[in-house]
Amino acid sequence: MGFGAVTTASDIPSVAQVIAALTRDVADFPQPGVQFKDLTPLFADREAMNAVIDALAEIASGADLVAGIESRGSLVAAAIAARLGTGVLSIRKSGKLPPPVLREDYEREYGPATIEIPADGLELAGLNVVIIDDVLATGGTLGAANRLLERAGANVTKAAVVVELPALGGREAVAPLSVHSLSQA
Ligand code: AMP
Repeated sequence: MGFGAVTTASDIPSVAQVIAALTRDVADFPQPGVQFKDLTPLFADREAMNAVIDALAEIASGADLVAGIESRGSLVAAAIAARLGTGVLSIRKSGKLPPPVLREDYEREYGPATIEIPADGLELAGLNVVIIDDVLATGGTLGAANRLLERAGANVTKAAVVVELPALGGREAVAPLSVHSLSQA
């Protein structure tokens, strides 16, 4: 093996670099003007997914419950919860859960939406909860998830996302909620 094969610390890609390399940017989806971040290739890659979950699990460590926003946030939240040994909660899109539900209407980058959690049979009072989503755009979704969980009595300690789109001001919109992002685009 020659020196050409030696790997130095600076050759090891950061999590942010891995995310950028495995994100598919799709112009004008789901509507004109939106640059959609498709994280499917990232999640399907064994090493990349492990690196993403390691980084998010470190951020979420100490939580009692990891709450992911359907559907991509829930996918990631379940993996983090399995890594940390916590509970997991999927914050659902409207119409998926049987009644009664707690719901929040909100605006996101590409239009209005509603999220829900069960109003019965779920005891969140006093739990330290970390919210997970794939992409933070305008912050409408994260803000609504935060309100929903706090209405249910949870103590939302922070939020973490895989990709933040800083130009859309989501972090400012959800202040004072503490937001951690693994990458910015
Ligand atoms: P927002 O509420 O505007 O912060 O939008 C965040 C939610 O919508 C997340 O659940 C994302 O999955 C989705 N989303 C918004 N914008 C994008 C985008 N450009 N690429 C991928 N997902 C997005």
